Amino acid sequence: MTEKRQVRPATEGWTQQKDDKGRPLLQFAEPKRKQPPTHFADLSVEQRIEKVRELGFPAFRAKQLATHYFSHYTSDAEQMTDLPGTGRAELVEATLPPLLTEVRRLQTDKGDTIKFLWRLFDGALVESVLMRYPGRITLCVSSQAGCGMNCPFCATGQAGLTRNMSAAEIVEQVVRANRAIAAGELGGYKGKPGEGPERVSNIVFMGMGEPLANYNRLMSALRTMVEPQPNGLGMSARNITVSTVGLVPAIGKLAAEGLPVTFALSLHAPDDQLRDELIPVNSRWKVNETLDAAKAYFDATGRRVSIEYALIRDMNDHVWRAELLAKKLNDRGRGWVHVNPIPLNPTPGSIWTASTPEATQAFVNALESAGIPTTLRDTRGKEIDGACGQLAAAD
Ligand code: SAH
Repeated sequence: MTEKRQVRPATEGWTQQKDDKGRPLLQFAEPKRKQPPTHFADLSVEQRIEKVRELGFPAFRAKQLATHYFSHYTSDAEQMTDLPGTGRAELVEATLPPLLTEVRRLQTDKGDTIKFLWRLFDGALVESVLMRYPGRITLCVSSQAGCGMNCPFCATGQAGLTRNMSAAEIVEQVVRANRAIAAGELGGYKGKPGEGPERVSNIVFMGMGEPLANYNRLMSALRTMVEPQPNGLGMSARNITVSTVGLVPAIGKLAAEGLPVTFALSLHAPDDQLRDELIPVNSRWKVNETLDAAKAYFDATGRRVSIEYALIRDMNDHVWRAELLAKKLNDRGRGWVHVNPIPLNPTPGSIWTASTPEATQAFVNALESAGIPTTLRDTRGKEIDGACGQLAAAD
């Protein structure tokens, strides 16, 4: 067998952007921008009651408003006939202000995949991707407009960070998806008679942005997602996946929250030499300490961790890397982790391509023979630039 070629982003002509201290460019702090109006989904149940009282209404109106929003997926005052006519429009405007304007919707997979392009109050653009699978409906949400993590193979990472999204802007993506599903706009109703309207069952934070770089708003959004109806979306934490490039201190914080969401780590290389270039945040937190943090997440929550690995031709798809990855995972214990390789999706102007089917299979085989559960990820929405790493939100 001939030795497989080895390239790295730098040898391929890509130059890493540097900050003024000469370190790989990372934007943790967002540029100063005006924040969106405060919405019910930004507030705790107590704060919502306070807000409704301040507006001159009795406390029980808060629950009615929440029911409309989190159970009926509406912010339309006209439909809220259980609220008094006088002052109703003002009450709704002050508690459920519009946050996302639909700019465009693209569909594929016979209508089973929809990519939404949303405009935020300040003109920033974000995307979410809704996917129907047998037995579940998954929404891929954005947590930031743009992203500051600068990964060279990701379309979002190339555009930089515009701003953090508010908790309500994150939650509203789910509410709007549920509204579309209830209206029969996602490939039609496929549930059983008598089961009631379908809704989003799974959420993945794999849209635009680095969720752990927007930690407090992420946590607030997660709490609203799992809060039972009518005050929240009543989702199961285990059906929500938070994916990160590996911000180690934030992984530790997340593990201590007592909210057993599924945790995914975008590793993409088991060795620092390559990961320093592929995932610039590796300049702060190295592969080993990132894997230690992932294992500690499992120890704290009992939730099996996913390792994401985009297979890039001749870059990171070598059998020796699969073996090194398996060794590093096995060194930390058994049964705590599984690997999700995904052939790279093309992004505009990128010089990199997906691994060949043969290299992909060899990579998967090497992991499996080392005893690592491995699932090649099915990628959806490539035709509409809606797949992982393709979200650039251009109008
Ligand atoms: N910032 C977070 C979440 C967003 S990206 C994170 O990095 O985990 C969601 C997943 O898509 C990550 O695993 C990311 O590395 C991967 N991804 C990015 N660009 C990709 C591409 N071009 N092809 C396939 N996966 C890609």
